Amino acid sequence: MTKIKLKKSEIPKVYSIPINIAIQLVKNGYSAFLVGGCVRDLLLSRDTRDFDLNTNCPVKILRQLFPRAKQKKPDHYGVFELKEANLDIEIAHFRSDFDYDGRHSRVELINQLEPDLQRRDFTVNAMVLEPQKKEIIDYFGGLDDLARSLLRTIGEPRQRFREDALRMLRAVRFASKLDFKLHPDTFNGISELAHLTSTLSPDWVRKEFWGILNTANSAKGFKLLVDTGLIDYVLPGVRFTDEPYQKLRKALSRADKKGMEPSNKLAILLSSSPQDIVQNAIRHLRIPVSIASRIIWLTGNLSDLADTTELPPAEMVELVDHLYFPALLELYHLLYPAEWEKKRGDFKIIVPNLAKKYILNGDDIIRLLGIESGKRVKEVLYEVRFRQLWGKLKTRQEAEDYVRQNFSNPDQ
Ligand code: ATP
Ligand code: MG
Repeated sequence: MTKIKLKKSEIPKVYSIPINIAIQLVKNGYSAFLVGGCVRDLLLSRDTRDFDLNTNCPVKILRQLFPRAKQKKPDHYGVFELKEANLDIEIAHFRSDFDYDGRHSRVELINQLEPDLQRRDFTVNAMVLEPQKKEIIDYFGGLDDLARSLLRTIGEPRQRFREDALRMLRAVRFASKLDFKLHPDTFNGISELAHLTSTLSPDWVRKEFWGILNTANSAKGFKLLVDTGLIDYVLPGVRFTDEPYQKLRKALSRADKKGMEPSNKLAILLSSSPQDIVQNAIRHLRIPVSIASRIIWLTGNLSDLADTTELPPAEMVELVDHLYFPALLELYHLLYPAEWEKKRGDFKIIVPNLAKKYILNGDDIIRLLGIESGKRVKEVLYEVRFRQLWGKLKTRQEAEDYVRQNFSNPDQ
């Protein structure tokens, strides 16, 4: 066990609230520590607003001491959530987990700190801060691993991943988020047991995958998913063979630099796959419909964007007037930076005009041409819009003249 004492000046101000809660527990005669992510992030000088506290204070007393805290279900886990000055503080009773089934375990509340730390996933996630002495206590070599930017399981990786297969995706998420390497044993354990991911609920998988895409280092996470073989169970059926793989990694890394949304990053990863594979992967991950339809539209329209000069006016208008078109342009930029300048040139005139309302509407066209509503009206509407977008029709008068001159049919 290693202990290091922190100077007051080394502890950011936001920590004073959870530290004071822990001190309150200690003053009531119990052990209490800050634990997990908030201790790791403190040592890495990373901001956090999530704080976990760990204590042997009985659940009944916790309820009395923190009447405003909400107890999480199930009650016998003894976990309380507290919102304090916009911080999310979780107070949990020391516990030990046993009888794992590959994701869940039975839980026993215990009186000691160490077994509670032992059940945790990675060495860097299992350090505590003693609130009064301001001491970091490290049982498993977390400080060394932190100094070497290493993510390593506590105990034998294969055993820990068999207990809970989600830890493999968590490993990739933390490696991405913290920009850490996986320890070789941890990496090998994942490579061997990646298939256990298929036993997990897709909702858990999606949550962790989203967490990976949400980091500023998702390109690294993606490489780890591919290198360990986890990707086959996250995006089943999607092939990442050599050439597209390199292109996608680079695009993802550009998306990371721009701080793009996870759904745009997923669209990048699916951009080289046929539509049925894209749809399968999205269904498999149970992605909410609104996000799924956006990804399907983006991936499905990338090839049209590559060849916009070939598109008939109606299709062109449907493409560029689409709600997601700006996102499509951005995706193209990330995937094909070399072709981007030319594409931008192609769209230089169009883009500022996209925000303009249709210069004529369907009723105008019906009135001008004296025709019934129907397919023909839509065709003319799109022709007008096409010319408006290209800056060839600027005023309503110009548009009306254009319609009369080009589409009036004396026989109608
Ligand atoms: P983040 O900042 O991403 O929330 P975190 O370290 O707080 O990171 P959480 O998922 O919030 O991660 O979990 C809190 C702590 O609980 C972890 O630091 C770890 O000690 C423990 N933990 C969470 N999930 C598991 C798991 N599946 N197996 C073992 N320990 C876990
Ligand atoms: Mg957390």
